[in-house]
Amino acid sequence: MATTNRVQSRKTSKSNGSGSSVIGEVKRFLHLGEEGKVTTLQGLFIEQLKDLYSAETQLIDALPKMAEAAHAPELKRGFKTHLAETKEHAKRLERILKGLGEKATGKTCKAMQGLVKEGNETISENASEAVKDAGLIAAAQRVEHYEIAGYGCVRTYATLLKRTADAKLLQTTLNEEAATDKKLTAASKKLNIKATLPAKK
Ligand code: FE
Ligand code: FE
Repeated sequence: MATTNRVQSRKTSKSNGSGSSVIGEVKRFLHLGEEGKVTTLQGLFIEQLKDLYSAETQLIDALPKMAEAAHAPELKRGFKTHLAETKEHAKRLERILKGLGEKATGKTCKAMQGLVKEGNETISENASEAVKDAGLIAAAQRVEHYEIAGYGCVRTYATLLKRTADAKLLQTTLNEEAATDKKLTAASKKLNIKATLPAKK
């Protein structure tokens, strides 16, 4: 890290011509460093908002499949309710990014790709109804915890960047993710016990 900084500052001091300062301005505008890396908190904020947007859109595709695979009516309902909330989460991110002069697209959340893949494995498992429900809860809680971590970070960045309205919107989403996680824990209390019982024929 220190070496990179030193190399960068040497590069900067060597090239102080007017041409390079224009490039520097453009890079600063795009929040890019010497190697095309994000260098400002605002740049990181935008990158993480786009990552969350990718995560939410992947979930919009995955939640109907989870609702379909769930057996317990309360779990099915829970997934459907969260699908409606998730669509709203994606819209909020679009709004925030638009306010920053950015498009929501351009990033793929690889972590969510992995979580969805694991959820699909649970869906195709040859398990009893109750065991499958318990597995779906486990998959969904992994997703919620990932989102809670992500929204906690961007909410804090928004506050630090004095983007109060954005921070408020992100906090609303964060609260909904946390409430979903709590509902899943509540559902698991009954459904995990069901999974300990011998499967119905
Ligand atoms: Fe969400
Ligand atoms: Fe969620």
